[in-house]
Amino acid sequence: MFRQWVHQVYATQDREIDCGQLFELLSGYVDLQVAGVDAAPWAPQIQVHLAQCAECNDLYQSLLEIARLEAGGTLPDSAQLLRELRQFAAPREEAQPEPVVVEAK
Ligand SMILES: [Zn+2]
Repeated sequence: MFRQWVHQVYATQDREIDCGQLFELLSGYVDLQVAGVDAAPWAPQIQVHLAQCAECNDLYQSLLEIARLEAGGTLPDSAQLLRELRQFAAPREEAQPEPVVVEAK
């Protein structure tokens, strides 16, 4: 699983990736973060995309939060998930994407 992810990452390492490619890499990336692995050096292209793309950055933050809650044995209630889904569906203003801050857990 991890090996496969690393292969995927290496396959795209020298290129800029688009949102679809990022999405494919994101769950493995989030799993690593939750496991306490700093995946950033493995996947600079993910960092680059997250820094440039506010939508993917939001998705990443949400996935990370959900994965952490799962790892902690608690899941957000469905009302909260629905609220977050609505936020995704809502049109967003043009905003300067903030750099990704990876919190150590
Ligand atoms: Zn994107």
